[in-house]
Amino acid sequence: MPLLGCIADDFTGATDLAAMLVENGMRTVQLIGVPQADQPLPEADALVIALKSRTAPVAEAVAASRAALAALTRAGCRRFFFKYCSTFDSTDAGNIGPVADALLADLGAGFALACPAFPANARSVYQGHLFVGSRLLNESGMENHPLTPMRDADLVRVLARQTSGEVGLVPYAVVEEGAEAIRAAMATLAREGRRYAIVDAVNERHLRAIGAAAAEHELITGGSGVAMGLPANFRRQGRLPERADPAALADVPGLPAILAGSCSRATLGQIAHARAHLPVFDLDPQAHPDAASLAGAALAWAKDHLGARPVLIAASAPPERVAALQARLGRDPMGRDLAGALIEAALAEIAEGLRDLGVRRLVVAGGETSGAVVSRLGVRALRIGVQIDPGVPWTRAEGDGPSLLLALKSGNFGAPDFFLKAFATLPEAKASV
Ligand code: ADP
Repeated sequence: MPLLGCIADDFTGATDLAAMLVENGMRTVQLIGVPQADQPLPEADALVIALKSRTAPVAEAVAASRAALAALTRAGCRRFFFKYCSTFDSTDAGNIGPVADALLADLGAGFALACPAFPANARSVYQGHLFVGSRLLNESGMENHPLTPMRDADLVRVLARQTSGEVGLVPYAVVEEGAEAIRAAMATLAREGRRYAIVDAVNERHLRAIGAAAAEHELITGGSGVAMGLPANFRRQGRLPERADPAALADVPGLPAILAGSCSRATLGQIAHARAHLPVFDLDPQAHPDAASLAGAALAWAKDHLGARPVLIAASAPPERVAALQARLGRDPMGRDLAGALIEAALAEIAEGLRDLGVRRLVVAGGETSGAVVSRLGVRALRIGVQIDPGVPWTRAEGDGPSLLLALKSGNFGAPDFFLKAFATLPEAKASV
């Protein structure tokens, strides 16, 4: 029976949280979207439902989050975590406040803490103000975010604009005193009628103390940082056994491959690094501006190159080439970038074709690209394994079709040798299928 049920407002955020829970001793499975009522759920200590609700219309985000809460409750969870970005990505309309309000109401609870701090990623909260490195949030570049521009670093104010509830603060001096002091401060705020408390944290000791202080809270909200303290609560209560290896994944023998659809700088560097070591095929969307022929060319190449060494198939291109293709293909009436859509469709088709050719170990670079691949492969659940680089674990994917090992990398994550390192962390690929 799962102990902790988590709702994440985007896909890579869900993986990040799941990896944090595994690292702290919980066997964790990430579910893609809200599971059907009759979908059997895998055995795990924590379940993380990945939504796409961060920038969805408020009513949609609230409805999806409530459905996720209901599914997690049905699965047996009694403690819940609402995960949002460590830069508190939201607007005055939401969706952090409205979703948290709805979850509290459904749980019949009156209070939740809110802590996006993640010191390992240089996100800290001091006197309620969120810092990215040494800069206030509203001077960190996040003030220019296209969808969720963050123009105020004072999270008490930011959250207060998104909820009818009152928002208080547990300041640094209290957090520094430890779990008991934090627990008492939160109890006082709740008694005074506050619905939320922003809780300061500038280091991991603070995050673990906050986790301990919230052991009895039904709902906790925050970034993946504050989740690091939660497994210890279940352990102290005797409900979470010491797991020999919470990241253990059953092996899936089969061929290795890499698909890159991210044009982020880190991914471009990782592809450049891989060229010296691996067979690489570059998609040519200028020559084949339709998904089927792009995929056909790549799969014909792959047939001749698949083997013990991973193959890399890349759409990724530097900014001027991306801009040229975008200008050539334009946008659909909904404003969607047709170049991006073409390449996502092609890479999804290639992923399916590779699976038919016996690929069972697949690395995908790019957030949107990963979403397209996972949806085409009919993946419904990812059991979280060992991290390759921070925030990017190997996972075992279950759903329609055969299981496979998947590593889904958000574009900017990972060291330059990420692709090689990913396969080096797996047991030797056994004979091809
Ligand atoms: P990241 O995680 O780096 O943001 P994503 O996969 O989320 O990566 O987004 C990259 C987008 O760029 C996808 O929509 C992908 O289809 C698109 N894309 C990839 N290669 C090209 C290219 N050569 N020209 C235009 N768009 C591209």
